[in-house]
This record gives sequence, structure tokens and C-alpha cells, in this order.
Amino acid sequence: MSTSNKKARLATVWLGGCAGCHMSLLDLDERIVDVLGLVDLVYSPVADIKVFPQDVDVTLVEGAICNEENLHLAREIRERSKLVVAFGDCAITGNVPSIRNRMKLDGILTSVYTDSFYREGPGPMPNTETGLPVLLPRVVPLHQVIDVDVHLPGCPPAPERIWAAINAILSGGPIELPVEMRSFG
Ligand code: SF4
Repeated sequence: MSTSNKKARLATVWLGGCAGCHMSLLDLDERIVDVLGLVDLVYSPVADIKVFPQDVDVTLVEGAICNEENLHLAREIRERSKLVVAFGDCAITGNVPSIRNRMKLDGILTSVYTDSFYREGPGPMPNTETGLPVLLPRVVPLHQVIDVDVHLPGCPPAPERIWAAINAILSGGPIELPVEMRSFG
């Protein structure tokens, strides 16, 4: 990606994940200052921006597609981003959130929202009336709902891996990480 004189517009998105991938991004520590010298952060869970913007150069997407809100945002991301990165194993394979695919959705909803040991009574179920995002029948990885340009594996991807990927993307060269940076888990 050529950054020429202009800073690249970077977004990071938290879908169905545990935030661990974003924690690893923050573990870049002082290198975050270097990254922010190269990009404008236009959307992220660490910034209070409500609407996914237009004309984004690079979007890192953490997490699987678990509910209708995730699906809607993933489609918006694809429409508005030049390059989409599946950021971490949940985005690439479904990983931890997809464990629920082994169970019946009705049973999960009942046990979480009505029968939970931790509840005193039934809570609002996810539906259009309560405004809680409706769960999809199955959790799916990002590439099953939109085209993905780069896969950055790891649970979470280590900071060194994130650093290497961001540098490769922003330098505009081929995005080829060393073999030891391509493992899952
Ligand atoms: S890949 Fe791992 S660290 Fe990242 S969101 Fe999924 S479970 Fe969390």
C-alpha cells in the first residue's frame, strides 16, 4: 500500500472475539507511537467513533461473525475498506466463539438468558424488540461473509507479528511473514 505523502487511514474492529487481539495490538507499547506516525486511526474500540467511516485504507478485524450486528458491520467494512485483514484466529477460523456450533442455539439462549444460575429471573432475549443483536444460527469466520485480503493468525497474534504485518502492509510490498509468524494458536 502506497502511503505517499498522505497517512494511511487505519481502522480496527472488534467483532465476536475476547479483545485479546486488541490487547496484543496495545502490547506494541512505544511502537504504537511509530504506527500513529504513519496512520490516522479512523475507527477502533480504543477510540470513541460510532460509525464505520468511508475510504479506509486498512481494517484489522478481530473476532468471528456471531450475530446480525457482526454481519452488518463486516459488510460495511468490506464496502468501505481497500484492504481487510482477518486479525487473529477467531476471525480466520471461528476459533473459540465457534465452539457454540456444537450446541443447539435454543438451548444456549435458554441457559444464558433465562435459566442461568447467575440470574434472579429471565433476562431480555436477543431480538429486535430488546435491541440485543440476534445470534446467527452458526458462528462463521470472516472470509465466509466477505472477501478477506490478509490473514494474520494467532490467538492472539503476538505483537512482533502485528508489527511485521503492519510494516509490510504500509510499505506497499508483498505481505509475506516468516514461517514462524504464520502459526495458529
Ligand atoms: S483469536 Fe484469541 S485472543 Fe483473539 S479474539 Fe479470538 S480468542 Fe481472543
